[in-house]
Amino acid sequence: MVNPNFAKMQANYLFSTVRQKTNEYVAAHPEAKILRLGIGDVTRPLVPEVIKAMHAAVYEMGDIATFKGYGEDFGYRFLREAIVANDYAPLGVTLTVDEVFVNDGAKSDTGNIGELFDVSCVVAVCDPVYPVYVDSNAIAGRAGEPTGDTWSRLVYMPCVAENGFVPELPKEHVDLIYLCYPNNPTGAHATYDQLRMWVDYALKTGAVILYDAAYSSFIGEGLPRSIYEIEGAKGCAIEFKSYSKTAGFTGVRCGYTVIPAELKRDGQSLNAMWKRRQNTKFNEASYISQRAAAAIYTPEGKRQTAEVTAYYKKNARIIREGLQSIGFEVYGGENAPYIWLRTPNGMKSWDFFDQLLDRAQVVGTPGSGFGPHGEGYFRLTSFGTLEMSTEALERIRKVF
Ligand code: PLP
Repeated sequence: MVNPNFAKMQANYLFSTVRQKTNEYVAAHPEAKILRLGIGDVTRPLVPEVIKAMHAAVYEMGDIATFKGYGEDFGYRFLREAIVANDYAPLGVTLTVDEVFVNDGAKSDTGNIGELFDVSCVVAVCDPVYPVYVDSNAIAGRAGEPTGDTWSRLVYMPCVAENGFVPELPKEHVDLIYLCYPNNPTGAHATYDQLRMWVDYALKTGAVILYDAAYSSFIGEGLPRSIYEIEGAKGCAIEFKSYSKTAGFTGVRCGYTVIPAELKRDGQSLNAMWKRRQNTKFNEASYISQRAAAAIYTPEGKRQTAEVTAYYKKNARIIREGLQSIGFEVYGGENAPYIWLRTPNGMKSWDFFDQLLDRAQVVGTPGSGFGPHGEGYFRLTSFGTLEMSTEALERIRKVF
C-alpha cells in the first residue's frame, strides 16, 4: 500500500505550473523574449574565491594522500567552526560545533525536520507560505484533509499588508510554528520585538519554532539576523540557513541547520534525535561543496559574496522603486530579494500572471500559489540580471 497522503496533494507544484504556462506561451510565440522573474533561482556565477576552493578540493580528491571518502558526521569541522565563528559569534550568539548540522541545502532539512515530531502535533504556518512546510507536513499525515486550497489540520496565520506580513499569535494551541524571515514570498522581515513576541510565546506554550533564515544575507542594519539573538530562543527554536542565496549555491548544494543542545521536548534532546536521524538517513554534503562553503568565510570570500548580494539588492531597489513610481502598491525588496506587489484593481493573482506574460512577456509568481492570503498579490524576484530587471520594469511601465 502506498502513502495515501500523496493522493490528497495538489497534482501541480506552484512552480511547475508557472513553468508549464510559460512554456505554452513560448511555444505559441516563439519570437517572444521572455524575462523570467518568477522562480527564485540566482543568476550570478560563483565568486572566484569559491571557485578556487572548489578546484583545490577537486585536486585533493584526485590524490591518494588527500582523497576524502565519506565525510565527518554532521559536516566537516572546518566548516562548522567557520559557521560558529562568522555567522553567530559576531551577533553575540554562542554556539558549539555540535549544535550545527551541515546539509545539502535548506530544502532538505525544512522538509525533513518534521520527522522529529509526533504526527498529532498541530502545525502553524504563515499564509502565504513557502510550500515546502505545508507539503512536507501533508506527506507526513500531519496536515489532515485538503479543503480547497488549505488543509484541515493546519493553522494558517494570515500575513497581509495590514499586519506588516508578520502574523499575530494563534488563538488555538499549536505545537510547531514555521516562521521565515526575510520572508519568501512577501519579502518582509521581522523586527527584534516581533521575534521576541514569538519566542516568548513558544517558551510559554512549549511550541517549537522552525525558523527559516535562508535569506539572511539580505538583512540590513538594525534587524535580527538569527532567531538566537532573542533571549531564550535556544530553548524553543531550530534555525535553517542556506548558501543558495548567500553565495549562489543553488546548483552546488550546501546549507546548515542549528539545533541548540538545550532544546528539549518530552525530556528528549532534539539535537540528539536529529543526530540519530542524520546518521541513519544522510551522508553529508560533498567535501567539494563544504570546501566551497568555507571559502565564503575568508576575507576575500566575504567581500566577493557581499558584492553579489549588493547586486541583487540593487535589482530589488530598481524594481521596487520603479513599480512604486508607476503607482503599484509594493512591499518587500529591502531586506529580501523578493518584491511583493498588490495586483492592480483587485485582479486575481493568476489573471495578473497571464496579463504580465501576454502583454509584457514578464514571468512572475502569483501570490495565491503561496496560500489563500496571497490572492491579489504577486511576487517578482531580484535574482535576475540587472539588464533583465531594468527591462522588465520598462515593459511593465509601458503596459500599465
Ligand atoms: N527556504 C526558503 C524560504 C526558500 O525560499 C528556499 C529556496 O528557494 C529554501 C529554503 C531552499 O533553499 P536551498 O537551495 O538551500 O535548498
